[in-house]
Amino acid sequence: MYTPEGPERHDHFIYLAPSLERRPQKSVDATVAHEFAHVLLGHGEAVDLDDSLKQERDADLLIQKWGYAPTNSCDWMKKGKKARRRA
Ligand SMILES: [Zn+2]
Repeated sequence: MYTPEGPERHDHFIYLAPSLERRPQKSVDATVAHEFAHVLLGHGEAVDLDDSLKQERDADLLIQKWGYAPTNSCDWMKKGKKARRRA
């Protein structure tokens, strides 16, 4: 039986950078959970930075319910936002 691969078959694609393997296991676990949270929450391409921050916050809130300590995805995004505003 032929089973198509790629976008025709899969609604979601999660890419995890190989450099992730150099981080502590706790951080790897939380990052993988965070990416799955985005999929489960139906997140897509963010329309703007505020939407993006909301998606990151919602994903982090969900993984906290699963027992993971979020990595600081929102923190770096907020810092990036401030830095862009200053420029
Ligand atoms: Zn995220």
